[in-house]
Amino acid sequence: MHYTEKLFIIHYAEVGLKGKNRVFFEKKLTQNIKLSLRGTGYAEVQRLHDRIVVHLKQGTDIAEIEKRLRRVMGIAHFELVCRTEKDIDVIKDTALQLTEGKTFETLKVETKRSDKSFPLTSPEISSEVGGHLIQQTGARADMYNPDLRCWVEISHNSAYIYTDKLQGVGGLPVGVSGKVLVMLSGGIDSPVAAWQMIKRGTKAVFIHFYSYPYTDKASLEKVIELTNILAESNYRSVIFLVPFAELQQTIVTETPAPFRVLLYRRMMTRIAQRVAAFVDAEALVTGESLAQVASQTLTNLRSIEAIADIPILRPLIGYDKIDIIAKAEQIGTFKVSTLPHQDCCSLFVPKHPATHASPADLDKAEAGFDIATLVETAMDGIEKKIVNFSYENGS
Ligand code: ATP
Ligand code: MG
Repeated sequence: MHYTEKLFIIHYAEVGLKGKNRVFFEKKLTQNIKLSLRGTGYAEVQRLHDRIVVHLKQGTDIAEIEKRLRRVMGIAHFELVCRTEKDIDVIKDTALQLTEGKTFETLKVETKRSDKSFPLTSPEISSEVGGHLIQQTGARADMYNPDLRCWVEISHNSAYIYTDKLQGVGGLPVGVSGKVLVMLSGGIDSPVAAWQMIKRGTKAVFIHFYSYPYTDKASLEKVIELTNILAESNYRSVIFLVPFAELQQTIVTETPAPFRVLLYRRMMTRIAQRVAAFVDAEALVTGESLAQVASQTLTNLRSIEAIADIPILRPLIGYDKIDIIAKAEQIGTFKVSTLPHQDCCSLFVPKHPATHASPADLDKAEAGFDIATLVETAMDGIEKKIVNFSYENGS
């Protein structure tokens, strides 16, 4: 029977994947690929022993599937492949069809043959297919630096032919590394920090503090939009919105001005910890980068962290701003992050914030506070929002 089927073959980096871990990883990746491809009209996602295959239907939007697969955490690389019968003439024709529309002067064909009963050896197949392409297109062979590569795989059931290896995002499938609570501000840095953590396989839950009515509600719209963008990798996402104005007012009236931002941060951290416990997140994540601003000196980070009893992860700690911006552009959050808004931390900020406040300095500044009640009051006003990712409704 004559057939040609187009399908995507997906590969993941296998380093460190053994035994049960590996099955868990593969199942999660398969599940995430299905979520990512909702609404594209794919036929089936199939988990094989060392790869995942996406079968397509007639008329499936292949470009859209490719675009979405490029964002799935855990995919190392993938190919759009033609599967055909194991007939050398069909293989040659299929390879030729795959070169249509491509510009190249030199080419190379590489063959892998797991079915040793196939009448031609791998070098013979490469030479047959390569010879055909050269004859039909006028290109030359180049074994070292060809403009076009064509791969042929002969397996037990079928032949697989493709010309492009597509780069995946790498990392680990979301959900294999536990859960974190990301402190999302609406600025450039924290969405990038979130993305880095999602890429290492953690499910991200978000928390945002806002100062309405001292500020407008722009920050809320921004963080929801940012969560929406991140949800393309993180899938269904939850964000907690915390009214922070009252607590800030207390800090402003009762503590020395140079410590304000640090005291805001300590309060945010305390509240975030409560939420983390509630959602089973094992660490907090911030977009802090060493010495980027006064509150992010090593001493100040230490003084904020002094009141934390779960880890605070800062994936951007060693990044320069220029690198963070490039990453934000790449992952698609930069535009939203740079829309105007007033962050609650920029409210009532003194001209000369403390750059080296010790934990003891901050303890002293907070000595008159009834911290438990302040935290409780803020917790009472929390609102939980669920952000579905844009593919979820089949769009
Ligand atoms: P970003 O670009 O993420 O706003 P930033 O460089 O402006 O970071 P800061 O404003 O000092 O730095 O904030 C440091 C980190 O504290 C942020 O990256 C974020 O993780 C957290 N944070 C700051 N403001 C808020 C907020 N309103 N809600 C939640 N988290 C916040
Ligand atoms: Mg900020």
